[in-house]
Amino acid sequence: MNQPVSKEDLRGNFSEIKPDLVQKEVLDEANRCLYCYDAPCTKACPTGINVPSFIKKIASGDLKGAARVILEANPVGATCSRVCPTEELCEGACVLNDASSSILIGDLQRHATNWAIKNKKPIFHAGKPNGKTVAVIGSGPAGLSAARELARLGYHVTIFEAKEKAGGLDTYGIVPFRLPQEISLWEAQQVEQLGVEIRTGIEVGKDIQADALLDEFDAVILAAGMSDVPKLGIPGEELKGVLDAIRLVEEIKEGGPTERFIGKRAAVIGAGNTAIDAATCLKRLGAADVKMIYRRTEAEMTAYAFEYAFAKQEGIEFRWLTQPKVIIGDEEGRVAKLVCSRMRLGEKDDSGRRRPIEIENSKLMFDVDVVVRAIGQKRHTGLIEPLGLKHERGVVLVDPVTHQTSNKKVYAAGDIIFGNGQGEAMVVSAAEQGKSTAYAVHENMLSRV
Ligand SMILES: Cc1cc2nc3c(=O)[nH]c(=O)nc-3n(C[C@H](O)[C@H](O)[C@H](O)COP(=O)(O)OP(=O)(O)OC[C@H]3O[C@@H](n4cnc5c(N)ncnc54)[C@H](O)[C@@H]3O)c2cc1C
Ligand code: SF4
Repeated sequence: MNQPVSKEDLRGNFSEIKPDLVQKEVLDEANRCLYCYDAPCTKACPTGINVPSFIKKIASGDLKGAARVILEANPVGATCSRVCPTEELCEGACVLNDASSSILIGDLQRHATNWAIKNKKPIFHAGKPNGKTVAVIGSGPAGLSAARELARLGYHVTIFEAKEKAGGLDTYGIVPFRLPQEISLWEAQQVEQLGVEIRTGIEVGKDIQADALLDEFDAVILAAGMSDVPKLGIPGEELKGVLDAIRLVEEIKEGGPTERFIGKRAAVIGAGNTAIDAATCLKRLGAADVKMIYRRTEAEMTAYAFEYAFAKQEGIEFRWLTQPKVIIGDEEGRVAKLVCSRMRLGEKDDSGRRRPIEIENSKLMFDVDVVVRAIGQKRHTGLIEPLGLKHERGVVLVDPVTHQTSNKKVYAAGDIIFGNGQGEAMVVSAAEQGKSTAYAVHENMLSRV
């Protein structure tokens, strides 16, 4: 395990942590690959990237060819090379794990896609126009992947995006030191170059009504992801200094003011992707002490193993089996203390994880200046319900193969269909769902001709 990084090294440092591989590392790594015929890495990749093929191209110096193989299967392959939990996916399946260590598939993928970014040569082209139109709501990995594939099939695609920039959580949600904004903006640009119109700053349901899209377009793809972090539901949440983790990361990705956390004591509530990203950001913003507070144990946390290892390395303290109960403010209405209860684990609940149970008279209190909510994301019911789509607690119900919703003209992909045991909230899954939704739209259009 690496040593924790010093506070001085972290403060204000939001540049990408991992440098690109140097030429010798690239060749050593690529030449280690066994180019398995029945490649388990490809099977373990949700987008099915032909890993042996792109690694072979890298080994022979054909970086353009390698980038093409990657991006053909995964329109957000540059992002995925940085954020995929590779040890659970492609690298976890590598046969070399038994003998020595997996090929660094993510790092090689990043090297090849970096080449494509630097060389600015178009890799894909739009298909011959077929006269059909598709509206995509949301420009995250699901929306961009769907739009790219449809444009290659000749559709006229318009993406409606509420934010000022395209890319969804890749642009606004995943911390810049793992995923710089320019990477996801480049991916959005690649899609635009195929003639896809990305109308940013337009929130469907507010600036334009969803039923107007149903009238105007031949099909609509809902790829709006999930929404803000829900409230904790405890007293004191209205105090100054209680923040939404996703908004915090967004502020940092947008280069917002960073001085206000210097020397502060912060408690981040939750133990998923968002909680780790918020906690590690706070460290880099100069917070003196960052605790992650979680009501279960490390065995139940939803963050990936690599994220947990990274947070520990960055000096984040973990408080397991601890549940926030009350936030106490000072006389100026600012957060001062967080009162928690200790928990124990009981039987498994609906999520398959053991249910946390409060231990009586087990209060503990932390002196804090900032409390960050990072307990998942709310759903876009305000967008789904006016469209009359069937859903379960905000998770849009779709046909598992065609991704068609209860309205046959509306399809859905990405985080908006994640939940109730369905799918994974990952960039690579959103990309795959976007792609397969595009093919399903195309098949249905063909069957109507
Ligand atoms: C902090 C954080 C860290 C994460 N880290 C990782 C990681 O390391 N690895 C990983 O694989 N995954 C990670 N994830 C998960 C990953 O980001 C998501 O699974 C993925 O982005 C989902 O893609 P999507 O296209 O479905 O939705 P999103 O990326 O959320 O994109 C949806 C888009 O729709 C837009 N939109 C919403 N409503 C409307 C509307 N009404 N009108 C118009 N536009 C609208 C939104 O503005 C947004 O741009 C992380 C998530 C978070 C929050
Ligand atoms: S997209 Fe992700 S899972 Fe697939 S090969 Fe690349 S790094 Fe691995």
